[in-house]
Amino acid sequence: MISVFDPLHLGSVALDIMTCGRTSFESRQKSRLDILLSTAVRDSPFYRERMSGDSSIHPLLSDFPIVSRSELMAQFDDWVTDPLLKLDQLRAFTSDPQKIGMPYLGKYLVWESSGTSNEPGIFVQDAQSLAVYDALEALRRNAPRPYQRWFDPLMLSERIAFVGAISGHFSSIVTMRRLRQVNPLMAQRLRCFSILQSPAALLEELNAYAPTVIATYPTVAALLADEFSLGSLKFKPAEIWTGGETLTDTVRRHVEQTLGCDVRNNYGASEFMLIGWECSHGKMHANADWLILEPIDERGNPVPPGQPSNSTLLTNLANHVQPLIRYDLGDQVRVLSECCACGSLLPIIEVQGRRDDSLVMRGCNGQAVTLLPLALTTVLEDDAAVFCFQLLQHDESTLVLRLEARGQDGKLMAQRCQKALDNFSVTQGLPLIRLIVKLGQTLSKGRSGKAKKIVALNKSEQH
Ligand SMILES: [Zn+2]
Repeated sequence: MISVFDPLHLGSVALDIMTCGRTSFESRQKSRLDILLSTAVRDSPFYRERMSGDSSIHPLLSDFPIVSRSELMAQFDDWVTDPLLKLDQLRAFTSDPQKIGMPYLGKYLVWESSGTSNEPGIFVQDAQSLAVYDALEALRRNAPRPYQRWFDPLMLSERIAFVGAISGHFSSIVTMRRLRQVNPLMAQRLRCFSILQSPAALLEELNAYAPTVIATYPTVAALLADEFSLGSLKFKPAEIWTGGETLTDTVRRHVEQTLGCDVRNNYGASEFMLIGWECSHGKMHANADWLILEPIDERGNPVPPGQPSNSTLLTNLANHVQPLIRYDLGDQVRVLSECCACGSLLPIIEVQGRRDDSLVMRGCNGQAVTLLPLALTTVLEDDAAVFCFQLLQHDESTLVLRLEARGQDGKLMAQRCQKALDNFSVTQGLPLIRLIVKLGQTLSKGRSGKAKKIVALNKSEQH
């Protein structure tokens, strides 16, 4: 099978990434930005129209409008720079689970995002942007056990487990599938595990494989640490890589102390695979040679360094197929002006991303059953096709479903949610979840809808 992979380009990008970081990144950022902005104005009808009043040869980033996902998705066919890319055909492609990680039109990789209030975003990558993500993943991800990596750079002595939502075309699972195609040796060392199964079934699978490295979400890492304390997890991994949700200090300490392993956190999104990585001094560095982050306040004005932001704009310098310019990510990022003792000149950032809770419910036999927030949101989005909701825990067997929709629309949505949660309850070993439905609710959310969607019983007073 062919893969979207360009080894020559990867080689040159890797060399560049190795030399940047200890030297200034600004000149690289500037020249890549110039190329991106002129490509967008030339080849994207959406940007050609938006920037028609600007006759300068090199438009400035600040002249470009702030854009949201829903706005870009609504004009998808005009936004992309390849006229062969059509949203309805891409939606048909991503609705087929058999095609996860397969090339699209022979030269693109496609993934969709989940977990926001609108319909999923579709993101298209070519070999050039993938080479950047590959090289950043390989070279910037700081290894907790450097000597081990020195002797085994391809990690062939490791057993790596990815634990996440593996049923859709999500960036993580698409990337894993592609890695397995590109590198058959790695395929034998890399397995994917679904969080939609019950924790008991997941633990059984993980115990049989006993991975040395686990890549997963902070809430899953916390669950694994809990299960180790209870004796249900029978092994200790050497490393846990987390991403996708906010990793709090408490959860990190809990995982590190209970499992005795190293935890490395990173910050990524469907819009850019590895926005930030954690160095040996525990600081998160932004890959500012390949992206630009602009923290903004409620009105879209820039926030000075060191101040917390309301949201953050992303400009992706690697992807010219689908230009992401001043794109509202919805995450709160603080950019620090201080230098890091590790020697990297890439800026230090602090991120407040998603902070959904795990819910502890009462199982059929009275046992405690943990429902992972990512599993609950995936079930409601994929099975019930409901994207704008909030689930609050009422007690150990009851949840409150808050929907913005009202009337007949709201009732039908609530019925789909009830059905999806009924099916999910059975797979998790729970009695059917009792659902209290509240329609016509105002759901507080950031500009990109990353407000808390799953709220545990003891956390509700905070929201
Ligand atoms: Zn550092």
